[in-house]
Amino acid sequence: MTKTRQQLRSLLDAFRRSCRPPARLAPSDWASGRVVIADGLTPKWQIENAPWQREPLDTLANADAKEVVFLAPIGTGKTTFMEAGLAYLIAEDPGPTLLVGQTDDDLKDWAETRMDHVIRNTPEIAALLPEDRHKKRKMQVLFPHMSLFLTGANLSGLQSKSMRRVFCDEAWQYRPGMINEARGRLHDRWNRQFFIMSQAGTKGDDLDKSWEHSDKREFMFPCPICNTIQPWQWCNVQGYDDQSQDLITRAKSAFLKCQNEECDWRCGDNPQHRRALAESGRYVATASGLPGHIGFHYNVLCNWRKPLWEIVLLWLEVKEAQKVGNVDPLRQFIQKRLAEPWEEDLTDNRTTLVGNGYQMSEYANGQRIDEEAFRFLTVDKQQDHFWAGIRAWRADGSSRLLFYGRIETFDQIHNLSTLYKVPPKMVFVDAQYHTDLVYAACAPMDWTALHGSGQNSFPYRRPNGDVVQRPFAKFSEAQTTTGRRVRYAHWSSDRIKDILHAHRTGKAAAWDIPDDSPQDYLRQIDSEVKREIVNSKTKQSEYRWVKTRQNNHAWDVEAMQIVAALMLKIIPGFEV
Ligand SMILES: [Zn+2]
Repeated sequence: MTKTRQQLRSLLDAFRRSCRPPARLAPSDWASGRVVIADGLTPKWQIENAPWQREPLDTLANADAKEVVFLAPIGTGKTTFMEAGLAYLIAEDPGPTLLVGQTDDDLKDWAETRMDHVIRNTPEIAALLPEDRHKKRKMQVLFPHMSLFLTGANLSGLQSKSMRRVFCDEAWQYRPGMINEARGRLHDRWNRQFFIMSQAGTKGDDLDKSWEHSDKREFMFPCPICNTIQPWQWCNVQGYDDQSQDLITRAKSAFLKCQNEECDWRCGDNPQHRRALAESGRYVATASGLPGHIGFHYNVLCNWRKPLWEIVLLWLEVKEAQKVGNVDPLRQFIQKRLAEPWEEDLTDNRTTLVGNGYQMSEYANGQRIDEEAFRFLTVDKQQDHFWAGIRAWRADGSSRLLFYGRIETFDQIHNLSTLYKVPPKMVFVDAQYHTDLVYAACAPMDWTALHGSGQNSFPYRRPNGDVVQRPFAKFSEAQTTTGRRVRYAHWSSDRIKDILHAHRTGKAAAWDIPDDSPQDYLRQIDSEVKREIVNSKTKQSEYRWVKTRQNNHAWDVEAMQIVAALMLKIIPGFEV
């Protein structure tokens, strides 16, 4: 062998070492049984634990996939998916990569705990870690062969850096425009890849627009009997309709049926059967989409580890809450469990109010209604007068309006409460205007002051330590200018008005008005509608109740009645 040939051979060896071809394994096969994860079902990531992740993960090795939108429900391994994917890229297909989360802090926590665990314990990646530990900084992990940057979804973090890959995590929470900023980091590189992973947000938001550009692949299974290929659809979960049974019994009798009407295949709440179904799943495109734009979607029904009865029980609770105008649980179910975008229902089917067969005079001397539990006097404060309403409530949430009218002075509030036998604590006065004056009037009388708020909810700590969100704040105490203590609380204007609207439109318990309701009441009650508006601060679109006429006093007085009824736990569906 000549010297030249020897030189050539060693040169070729060196070339082979430095230009090792990427693994022939698909990313899901590479990561499975290899990537060491924290808090997983198994110490190493396994594709068998989440078959719906195989095809989305394998797109990492698909050079034609320029933009991938992966809509997935909560609690089905989104975080470990991301970890497995990043591990694959670091080891097998490196390039500058940016990971975007909602805030810097979210990502820092994740990088310092979970991702750090992956990097240190997966031998293929640990070997690539720099000797100099200082190169691993909080918002970036610098390997000799690639950099992994982390940022919250804000303008400063999303500027200037040029990336080969950008991952957006939980993009439904980003402010408008931020997905586009993140996309801009790819600078139209030929080998770029933009990956969005999230639960669903709202119809028409940036996330939804990205999804609409994709080929919208749905995770589907073939019916074991008729072979019809179909997604796990919520409308095909049935068998829980028997209203005579309690919610848990109903939930436990639910099953998934075939979408083919002529087929009688059913899958009950059996983890083995449901697992087999998920293992037979494949993604099927349901749209053509832009070239290179791929979408993946599945919902909670695929996940055999979540018992079907638990999902159905959640749904039944959603329906209970919806009956009293609380649509928040429904929105959450659709966005988080079904991973589908929420569409606000703005249809307004208010019919003309008619009396419920009684006269105001029947109760004008403080007479009680049948099975009365509480009565409230609520007062809307104007510049120089007041509007007052009295409603009596039963424990089942039904109620009857006893009085509505204009009054001129604080003394008349006292007179009304005496005449109608409303205890002082059950008198609620709007304190939004002339707060000092209202506080000074409430304190000696032991009335409660109320403030409508633009906030959507208020945190409340239950005795067991859980924090829940309520549409009203707990009572606070303030000092009046004369040194007395006054009790007050804030209430969420929009949430409370949703509940009032459910009563007004007959979707909640009976909400009676007298046959001789004052004309003022009938003119003022339908004075607001719900509309989509753009928040001037956040630029997000929101749904808010807005005035359609100036005199909305009866609507406000009735809204405060709802607040009081919620505080005394009369309206069901809000057990907090
Ligand atoms: Zn079938």
